[in-house]
Amino acid sequence: MQNANQNGKTVLVLGGGIGGVRVARELNKLIGNENGITLSKILIFEKEKTSLFAPSLTKMMIGKRDAAQIQDDLSKVALGGIEVVFGNVDSVDPENITVTSGGQTYKGDYMVVSLGTEQHDVHNLSKTGHNFYTSEGAAAFYEQLKTFKGGKLAVVVSSLPYKSPVAPYESAMLIEQYLREHKLRDKTEISVYSPERAPMQFAGEKISEDVRRIMKERGIEYKPLHQLTKAENGTLTFTNEKGDVVTTETDMLAYTPEHRCPSVIREAGMTGESGWVEANPQTLQTKFDKVYAIGDITKIQLKDDDQLPKAGVFAQYQALTVAHNIVRQMHGKQPDKVFTAEGKYIMDQGDGKATRVGGNFYTSSLDIKETSAISHWVKILQEKSWFAGHF
Ligand SMILES: Cc1cc2nc3c(=O)[nH]c(=O)nc-3n(C[C@H](O)[C@H](O)[C@H](O)COP(=O)(O)OP(=O)(O)OC[C@H]3O[C@@H](n4cnc5c(N)ncnc54)[C@H](O)[C@@H]3O)c2cc1C
Repeated sequence: MQNANQNGKTVLVLGGGIGGVRVARELNKLIGNENGITLSKILIFEKEKTSLFAPSLTKMMIGKRDAAQIQDDLSKVALGGIEVVFGNVDSVDPENITVTSGGQTYKGDYMVVSLGTEQHDVHNLSKTGHNFYTSEGAAAFYEQLKTFKGGKLAVVVSSLPYKSPVAPYESAMLIEQYLREHKLRDKTEISVYSPERAPMQFAGEKISEDVRRIMKERGIEYKPLHQLTKAENGTLTFTNEKGDVVTTETDMLAYTPEHRCPSVIREAGMTGESGWVEANPQTLQTKFDKVYAIGDITKIQLKDDDQLPKAGVFAQYQALTVAHNIVRQMHGKQPDKVFTAEGKYIMDQGDGKATRVGGNFYTSSLDIKETSAISHWVKILQEKSWFAGHF
């Protein structure tokens, strides 16, 4: 068994995406590690060589980004006490805080699980369209868009829950701008189909209405409460809110995949009835001592049927809470920081403008800012500062 740091503690961070990188870098800073001086070790386990900034995938769909611009070499994160263990996490034992990867078992004193979601294609969707939740899918969508001559274009949310509740709407609006600029708008019908009752339903009626209005202004047809049941030979079949079967032809399709909690975490017995890790909403502690879960892998219930959106902004705030509390415990102190679910979520609308929804998602005190160029630039800045600040 590989251990641990002889002098200090070891933190196992599962996943080198947005939550994992953020928690590792914050831990490293708070612990006081420096290059050559490791007070406590932080091991990141990641199967990919690069770490993806997924919020920029919608820009990739219209050729405003390429793969190299939205991911970076994860080994660059290995500063101070951070080491990256490349390879699949094959098993996790949360009772004993151990992880097996590449035939080796690693023991830690604390564990932070940030493995995101596992993506699955339902109804053979990959034969009909592009999963824009991957870098390959977003790139392939753009390749087809470049030669598109007009017709019916659909953005489909294939199942719930899915991460980034604005991504389907944002992608439709960016595509709309692209088609206008390429003189194809008059020749193209754009529709968004989703099983949700409204866009961003967790944010309340006013915000949902605003998003609907913005789409309507762009001539984008919105079909809520439409559950996809089949996709074959360019025909999409849905069941609508009345239980009726509805079909539509499509010439181009972008879709969100089915999201599941990664199997390695399900097999480790870390999930609740929902099939996700039901971490404490304030501390992100799991049912296992000194084991935390952050980001998309968690399920945090809000009022009614709604849950805290799976979003990078929350993965990052959760990372800061967990890092702070782990370091307190390393010093024999009580954890004292809580995650309050305050954050801002930006939806690009094309034409250099964006809308910002922000506030406290636990108390539902949210508001939507006027569409502005500033919000668009803030979103670009988020991408730039992610890479500049962490890699
Ligand atoms: C199209 C799109 C647009 C988005 N837009 C926004 C936005 O505007 N704002 C926003 O806040 N959020 C947005 N998001 C959501 C945001 O990207 C996620 O919420 C965020 O990445 C979650 O971080 P995470 O660490 O939980 O998971 P991820 O960032 O997905 O990281 C999980 C990591 O775990 C690794 N992994 C998984 N299983 C294993 C295993 N068995 N072994 C080893 N490694 C493994 C994966 O390779 C991955 O690197 C968007 C997402 C998409 C897809």
